[in-house]
Amino acid sequence: MTDLSQIKDDLVTANRVLAYHHVVDSFGHVSMRNPENPNHFFLSRARAPNCVEIGDITEFTHEGKTVGHEPGKPYSERFIHGAVYEARPDVMAVVHNHSPNVVPFTVQSRRKFRPIMHMCAPIGTDIPTWDIANKFGATNLLVTNMDMGRDLAKTLGPRTVALMRGHGSVVAGKSLRDVVFTSIYMEINAEMLIKAYQLGDGDIVPMSDEEVAANTKGRAGFTYERGWENWCRLVNRPYYPSTWEMGPGFSKTDKSGL
Ligand SMILES: [Zn+2]
Repeated sequence: MTDLSQIKDDLVTANRVLAYHHVVDSFGHVSMRNPENPNHFFLSRARAPNCVEIGDITEFTHEGKTVGHEPGKPYSERFIHGAVYEARPDVMAVVHNHSPNVVPFTVQSRRKFRPIMHMCAPIGTDIPTWDIANKFGATNLLVTNMDMGRDLAKTLGPRTVALMRGHGSVVAGKSLRDVVFTSIYMEINAEMLIKAYQLGDGDIVPMSDEEVAANTKGRAGFTYERGWENWCRLVNRPYYPSTWEMGPGFSKTDKSGL
């Protein structure tokens, strides 16, 4: 199997894993930058993530134009992905989701969305909320063109997560394993945080900036690999034990991340 078909195979796995963990349902999507052409990215055609097959994976320019093989109608919100890749050369993978326990945090500001458990540290302590109405008025809340995507990417800035008011979130990662890991633990964090706010009558002790930095700095590829192997097993998908997709700083022969 060539590296590129392995990448597409892992993207299929990422779709299934996110569906298994209820980060996405029939909607939501995950993409990966083409490591052989950083101006392009891979994303499924418009299909429920749990149903995605390798033949559905389509190559797009940042502006959302199909390159070559066109298996069917593309996602109308593919601009979220293109705009983040355009703005962030460090980002190798993107998830857009309507993660159910996260959405309540997008429509109120009294209870902040903060990491409260060490596994959830990658979401960071500075999580902005993008409100599409601020610039685009009354819409159907979907990101359906590059202007909207770029405005969202601007709010995301250098961060890992931006919430989207009345919609969901965008998650940026340095690899497919990274972005899947963050998305799963963001949903887990949201569910636990709602309970903590209820138990504590609104008072909680979130992770500090220093604690988040200590967690994310020390997190090696091994952590992602351990999760990924388990998730492949859970969704009955092939597991390729390698660091080829870890992005800048990693190589296929460099096992230091493992
Ligand atoms: Zn959406």
